[in-house]
Amino acid sequence: MSNLLQDKVVIVTGAASGIGRAIAISAARHGAKAVLVSDIAELPREGGTPTTQEIEALGVATRFVQADVSRKADVDRLVEAAAAFGGVDVMVANAGITARDDGADVSEESYRRLMAVNLDGTLFSAQAAARQMKANGKAGSIVLMASMGGIVGAGMTVAYSTSKGGVVLMAKSLADALGPDGIRVNAVAPGTIDTHLLRTAAGIADAAEGFRQRTPLRRLGKPEEIGDAVVWLGSDMSSYVTGIALQVDGGLLAV
Ligand code: NAD
Repeated sequence: MSNLLQDKVVIVTGAASGIGRAIAISAARHGAKAVLVSDIAELPREGGTPTTQEIEALGVATRFVQADVSRKADVDRLVEAAAAFGGVDVMVANAGITARDDGADVSEESYRRLMAVNLDGTLFSAQAAARQMKANGKAGSIVLMASMGGIVGAGMTVAYSTSKGGVVLMAKSLADALGPDGIRVNAVAPGTIDTHLLRTAAGIADAAEGFRQRTPLRRLGKPEEIGDAVVWLGSDMSSYVTGIALQVDGGLLAV
């Protein structure tokens, strides 16, 4: 499709399903040298073939690495696996979970798990990638998955929005910390994207129709449209872009 990611080794977390899967496949379509697909389980939650099978069919080197991003040791092992391909150039910290809550009734267990995956997991992924990029002297790109819920508040997902707001500030802070090494860090903030997470998360699916009607483009986003944004941020086409949260939301937050 293009050579935007030519010679780049890409890691995508949460890449068995949904947006992560689309990002990994987009990376392969745009010429990546190798794509490491990581998730807690290899098969897509929505059913179908493993992401690695789709990437192999495109003739791109790939490997599945099982990792729970909330466990630092798992993430470190994932990034070490990239050494076999010459080291990571683009880390996409996409893995995330959601749950509807109004703040008052979120259980301690659900709150802690959400923060462990969305905040700890995202930071561990960025840190491990940055360490390897620095050791290899690579000017890499790190892309963190935020959400429109991290830009504006949402009373029905208080814990989720808090975690994603943290991801936006994490991207800005890491951009400052890693910029002198030539490493760029950006966040992507999707609007309402048609994935398994959206269709199955309790109470969120009902809200999606309301979001669709409020979105200027009057439709939900496709996972591939997030893939395209991530490919641009991962590529040298965005070489002077760091510390942003790129809204990919059909205009939802513009109105
Ligand atoms: P999804 O549920 O379809 O896919 C998420 C993937 O992450 C799954 O394959 C799951 O197994 C994996 N995962 C969950 N916990 C993990 C962990 N601890 N370690 C590793 N992998 C783990 O969800 P999605 O809609 O594709 O969401 C992907 C990202 O995009 C998330 O960070 C989500 O918050 C964000 N997002 C989604 C939307 C949307 O509308 N779908 C909007 C804004 C942001």
